[in-house]
Amino acid sequence: MTRSNETTLAHGGNHQGYTEKHTGAVNPPIYVSSTYHQQQLNQFGDYDYSRSGNPTRDQLEAAIAKLENGIAGFAFSSGMAAISSALLLLKSGDHIVITKDVYGGTFRFVTQLLTQFSIEHTFVDMTQQEEIEKAIQPNTKVIYMETPANPLLQITDIEQVVQLAKEHGCLTFLDNTFMTPLHQQPLDLGVDIVLHSATKFLSGHSDIVAGLAVTKKEDLATKLKFVQNTYGAILGAKDCYQLLQGMKTLEPRFSKSAATAEQLAAFFDSHDQIEQVYYPGLASHPGAEIHAKQSTSSGAVLSFKLKETVDAKQFVEKLSIPVFAVSLGAVESILSHPATMSHAAMPSTEREARGISDRLFRLSVGIENEEDLLQDFQQALSK
Ligand SMILES: *Cc1c(COP(=O)(O)O)cnc(C)c1O
Repeated sequence: MTRSNETTLAHGGNHQGYTEKHTGAVNPPIYVSSTYHQQQLNQFGDYDYSRSGNPTRDQLEAAIAKLENGIAGFAFSSGMAAISSALLLLKSGDHIVITKDVYGGTFRFVTQLLTQFSIEHTFVDMTQQEEIEKAIQPNTKVIYMETPANPLLQITDIEQVVQLAKEHGCLTFLDNTFMTPLHQQPLDLGVDIVLHSATKFLSGHSDIVAGLAVTKKEDLATKLKFVQNTYGAILGAKDCYQLLQGMKTLEPRFSKSAATAEQLAAFFDSHDQIEQVYYPGLASHPGAEIHAKQSTSSGAVLSFKLKETVDAKQFVEKLSIPVFAVSLGAVESILSHPATMSHAAMPSTEREARGISDRLFRLSVGIENEEDLLQDFQQALSK
């Protein structure tokens, strides 16, 4: 019997072969052990050292593999550890084509660390097929997507990029942090490796930093396993447990947050102090149609630009509900200022070119009462 992801999530990824065998415990045991006793000289058990494998991590990795319809999942100590470990599949002399709207930390990794190993890159507007095609070189090995992208929620047509990549013999990686496997399943659309900052919606409580990678290709699974074990940026057993606990409530959290985000997007869209709203659920969003084709939710993150008439400092200080902080995807609403937060790693000229003005704010909607949130923004925007 096939199960929906909602059901799999509620059971913490427990499915055949992964139910706790000894006691039937509903929650997975946390195996706080770096090493494992071996019964015989010439025959070792399933586990030898926790960098290479840990039963609590195994449960999490099996859960994310199942949720993304992959064959293998890998848990890392952060989203950036997952992303950089996946990019370590590249070799000196390789080239990647990457969306210019990529997460600031990924921008930093690609521009400042990969270049040290002579792995080159070209940034493109991923909404423009011709631009992607033009950027592909004979040594291009990976096309890297993020959709919806941060912070302007630009949408990439996943299937089109996958087709282009296949024509040119490139792999595709996709950062699926904003949609989660509940609402976007890139492996089903032909993407080779799906990446997550599990710090965000998957864990959902602003408590841990974690990353995940999933593939459904045998050879890529072997290579990712090798990098995970060799580079060693694994997620610890306690955090694996905490992430699994967070994931159990992903569906109700995401549904509520997305429903409120839709209301808030409409509110901002009609407000005379707001210059522009960026949300793929608005019909006016240039990527709305493509997003609806490849995802089942408009998501819980939106951005908006204040008019010059609004004092941004006062606006932030008048708000009483959202926390003003970096990050997203949590039970509490989080208001961010991309120019000084998520994209601070990007030079200001690059930032301006990407449309990330100082008057742009990103809101990750939490699970608070929707009327409370609306009223809070209403009063903060009033003169
Ligand atoms: C936060 C984030 C990352 C980085 O993840 P960390 O867990 O902070 O290392 C990568 N991609 C996106 C889209 C993010 O929001």
